[in-house]
Amino acid sequence: MVPTSTPERPRPHPSHAEHPRLLVPARSLDDVTAAATLLDLDDAFARALPALATPWAAAPFPDPQLVVLNEPLAAELGVDPAALRTPAGTGLLVGRVPEGVRTVAQVYAGHQFGRYQPRLGDGRALLLGEVRDVAGSRRDLHLKGSGRTPYARNGDGKAVLGPMLREYVLGEAMHALGIPTTRALSVVTTGEQVPRERLLPGAVLCRVAASHLRVGTFAYAAATGDAALLRDLADHAIERHHPGLVGAPDRYLGLLRGVVDAQADLVARWMLVGFVHGVMNTDNTTISGETIDYGPCAFLDAYDPAAVFSSIDHTGRYAYGNQPSMVLWNLARFAEALLPLLQAGTEAAGTDAGTDAAVEIATEVLQGFAPRYQAAYDRGMAAKLGLDAPDPALAADLLELLHAQRVDHTGFFRALSAGTARDLFTDRAPFETWAARRDALLPDDRAAVATAMDAVNPVHIPRNHRVEEALDAATAGDTGPLHRLVDAVTHPFDDRPDLTDLAGPPEDATPYITYCGT
Ligand code: AMP
Ligand code: MG
Repeated sequence: MVPTSTPERPRPHPSHAEHPRLLVPARSLDDVTAAATLLDLDDAFARALPALATPWAAAPFPDPQLVVLNEPLAAELGVDPAALRTPAGTGLLVGRVPEGVRTVAQVYAGHQFGRYQPRLGDGRALLLGEVRDVAGSRRDLHLKGSGRTPYARNGDGKAVLGPMLREYVLGEAMHALGIPTTRALSVVTTGEQVPRERLLPGAVLCRVAASHLRVGTFAYAAATGDAALLRDLADHAIERHHPGLVGAPDRYLGLLRGVVDAQADLVARWMLVGFVHGVMNTDNTTISGETIDYGPCAFLDAYDPAAVFSSIDHTGRYAYGNQPSMVLWNLARFAEALLPLLQAGTEAAGTDAGTDAAVEIATEVLQGFAPRYQAAYDRGMAAKLGLDAPDPALAADLLELLHAQRVDHTGFFRALSAGTARDLFTDRAPFETWAARRDALLPDDRAAVATAMDAVNPVHIPRNHRVEEALDAATAGDTGPLHRLVDAVTHPFDDRPDLTDLAGPPEDATPYITYCGT
């Protein structure tokens, strides 16, 4: 699982010199001046790393209409939701920024399904800027669907309502489950019809993130061969995500360690809750350790390590059970990008021996991934089972049973605390044997065990069939089911009688597929 060979050396490639730096076009700002006071947008990223930030303006949109606003998140940002509901506020959420605010498209590279793409970048997205939230943390405000940029390649730069609402719902569900994630502040329809498999309402998502620094951002900087750029990027990431390391002589090694740990913890959380990301390319792997880019993702219904929901993942590279290995693979690409910085800290810097020394220390850090992941997973599984201490063999045997009998992953753990789990098995004998083993390990106060389990095992995950229903209704103009679903998944541990229809798996077991037509 851990890479043992020398990582391939990054190669320089034709870089940013070739793409234009456009000025933000002047336009009528009558109705946006009021929005100027709404958000204090800083452009720290663009100032620190101009080579990675192309100034670019959002496309004009005929009729922006707010479909959903995340009021709790607005409050976290210290923004009055009522102000965001005004035309000026809604305009801001589709990129109509006050004069003087510089929005940028970020450039990055990425390994897509294992294949290196030297230049991806925000093809249909823009960084509005950074704000300080009420807790004092810096958060990115970022638009998706805001029009073509120099990185659009063949894309139209647009997004449509369904997939943007999906990102809203999934992000809120993950957040409510306590899993680090980017979150949607709003989804606004643009008044345009966008051609996909048919004409669909165009929409812009406003996303809030700890940052949009990705493994692919580092791959891009490393591939330019510009050592100063790579160093500036790493220092920027350290200042933002690991301020304790600022100025430390071994800070780049500390950054690598910090990202490895954050990603190990994150993927353990995904696995415990049955989340399948679907496109774990290195451009979708954050330095912050937040989940990002909810495309063809889904939660498991029946437990199955081979579960794949994305229509484009033909080989099962990003199958549920492969996710820890794929995160590690992505982290190895991150370590490769950092090699020049890690080498600079060695005695033999600048020589082949310096490279070897850097590879060695990077490999050592990557070797820390597996135990970190396993410990986080084992602890989480113990909590799900109501045990005081991890019992990996007991957990593994359970998962084999769930898999063999296609038992619903989320439903099982709530049924276990309720004492009704045996009903989920067609062949009950092996489950009874397993349950007796677990019983022997349980603390005496069974009521307390059940309460503790119910605090970590959700009733409500965004079930795929319910997400589809809600998005279809919203696309047809009815946001009622969407709001009901958001209500359920933002209170995932509450067993609410009025929402039980949203809790279970679908009656028919048709395999669920999500398409990349985002
Ligand atoms: P994603 O799969 O959303 O992570 O996107 C991968 C890359 O494709 C990123 O560089 C996106 O900006 C770009 N992209 C995706 N959809 C579009 C689109 N409709 N127009 C332009 N670029 C796009
Ligand atoms: Mg992406």
